Amino acid sequence: MSLETKVEVADLTFADLGLHPDILQSVKDAGYTHPTPIQALAIPLALEGRDLIGLAQTGTGKTAAFALPILNQLMGGPRRSRALILTPTRELCVQVEENFHKYAEHSGLKTLAVYGGVALEPQTKALRKGIDIVIATPGRLLDHLERQNVVFDDLEVLVLDEADRMLDMGFAPQINRIVGAIPKYRQTMLFSATMPPEVEALSRKYLRKPHVIQVGRRSMAAIGVTHAVYPVPRIRKTQLLTELLKDKAMDSVLIFTRTKHGADRVVRDLQQAGIQATAMHGDKTQKERTRALEDFKEGKIRVLVATDVAQRGLDVTGITHVINFDVPQEPEDYVHRIGRTGRAESSGDAYTLMSPDEIAMVRTIERVIGQEIPRVSVPGYDFGTTAA
Ligand code: AMP
Repeated sequence: MSLETKVEVADLTFADLGLHPDILQSVKDAGYTHPTPIQALAIPLALEGRDLIGLAQTGTGKTAAFALPILNQLMGGPRRSRALILTPTRELCVQVEENFHKYAEHSGLKTLAVYGGVALEPQTKALRKGIDIVIATPGRLLDHLERQNVVFDDLEVLVLDEADRMLDMGFAPQINRIVGAIPKYRQTMLFSATMPPEVEALSRKYLRKPHVIQVGRRSMAAIGVTHAVYPVPRIRKTQLLTELLKDKAMDSVLIFTRTKHGADRVVRDLQQAGIQATAMHGDKTQKERTRALEDFKEGKIRVLVATDVAQRGLDVTGITHVINFDVPQEPEDYVHRIGRTGRAESSGDAYTLMSPDEIAMVRTIERVIGQEIPRVSVPGYDFGTTAA
């Protein structure tokens, strides 16, 4: 996207996008003041009924970019199964349904998350009663289609969310069968973080003259995202960290590692990459620690790498970002660490680098904080096995 477009969209409001007042109320209730770039670009086109390809990752506000125009279109009155969103994982399925549910509050429209690993019966009952917007993982949806629990004769909009992940997970045959069972004349929107040839082929097959919208990598930490988890193999964490630190908006960054050695290693690697950093842990003398802290506070050092022990009682105002290089062992530590950012209400404050062996720990943290942390998949770094 060109810089000009970015500047233009920066001043837009949701009302400028042509949404119904009831939807605008839900957006207001959600606390959103301005559309994110993907929303500003996608919503007007989606409202016109255009097919779309959105190249955007989690954290850019892509869900609302398709959810709001769909709700807007369906507001005319409830009818059965008029929109279908396909997602790769049950986590995303639940997350997308929660978003729809939130935005649908003043619309009277019914939404349902349909995913595997749970009993069929409650989903069957709900589907048979009539659902306006079905959000589903492909396998479980096929089960319901085969049992004729749901019929998509009235379907108007299909969304393929995180299409690259769906194909990576081998869902191509299921998607083909599902699309074969829905009306040909419909609006189709495809969202994907990357555009490998397989996704291109999928879009050629199912989309008509799609408009392509791309939002840049910088939007990874989009407005409103205060937490994000980056799936990454352990050995590539430093490289990803260096990438993330290229963002100049990260003025003062506090990085946590599990061990003192880990902290020293991160400092060494960052310094080698030309990023000024200092370690702060129990092996440092009091003098060294005070000095490091002062330099950090005064902005002389941009990056401070600490262990949990060292962070207790650390009073540093003005930290823009906390990065968990290792996933904290105790959920409480996560909450403590995150509490260090002085601007929890603003964007992209707390990143956690998660290697495959740390997935379970992240899930525990999510249970304790009662919130799912959005996954941000950086092309070339994600280990591709974040699906449940
Ligand atoms: P998504 O990329 O759809 O996963 O959205 C990431 C997060 O951004 C979600 O927590 C949304 O609630 C939030 N969000 C979406 N749109 C906006 C907006 N316009 N302003 C602030 N937060 C938003």
